Amino acid sequence: TAPVITIDGPSGSGKGTISRLVAERMGWHYLDSGALYRAVGVAAGWGDIDLADPAALVRCTFDTVVEFRDDGGELRVLVNGTDATGELRTETAGAAASAIAAIPEVREALKERQRAFRQAPGLVADGRDMGTVIFPDARAKVFLTASAEERAGRRYKQLSDKGVSVNLSGLLREILARDARDANRAVAPLRPAADAVTVDTTGLGIDEVVGRVLAVVAQ
Ligand code: C5P
Repeated sequence: TAPVITIDGPSGSGKGTISRLVAERMGWHYLDSGALYRAVGVAAGWGDIDLADPAALVRCTFDTVVEFRDDGGELRVLVNGTDATGELRTETAGAAASAIAAIPEVREALKERQRAFRQAPGLVADGRDMGTVIFPDARAKVFLTASAEERAGRRYKQLSDKGVSVNLSGLLREILARDARDANRAVAPLRPAADAVTVDTTGLGIDEVVGRVLAVVAQ
């Protein structure tokens, strides 16, 4: 089986950007596992499914088709054939994803879909439970963290660069609520794998973080 590098951490820790760059450097595949949970959240919204109805959400998980497309270096995500790249990034989609991600049957339903990304020459997998549940035998495991303020600031920049109007203190509140839910849920709670190396990215630039992750991989 192909080697895997897992990069887990809370929202806004830089996982997405860093994982993509590490995958690019290594020439490996990339899995954005959060996009799968977000896609189910968005599809549930489109289908007017109640976020408090677990059975309907599990059905929605099985029914939702997610495709990743490399559009000239930019990753586009299609949900049931519709390009939902922008909608997936919103905090509304993140909050829906986090609610859905607490349902054990949803996580189970997405397991094999995530493992299918493990292909030669290798995979960089980004999420919350990549190192603990999905790829426990990964070659290297990284846990990225940063202060809550810095994470909210990064999300703010990411969203406002895309023309989405956001409020920084509201975003900070939402991120803290989402992290608390992700860390306190019964299944696959957010925490570093026992054999993960934690990298605190507070105050570090992208190149510096990529360098530290590559150093962990090279160990
Ligand atoms: O990483 P991202 O912010 O896109 O993830 C959105 C939500 O999906 C997270 O807040 C978390 O609840 C859920 N998630 C998860 N397990 C993963 C990836 C994401 O539970 N591997």
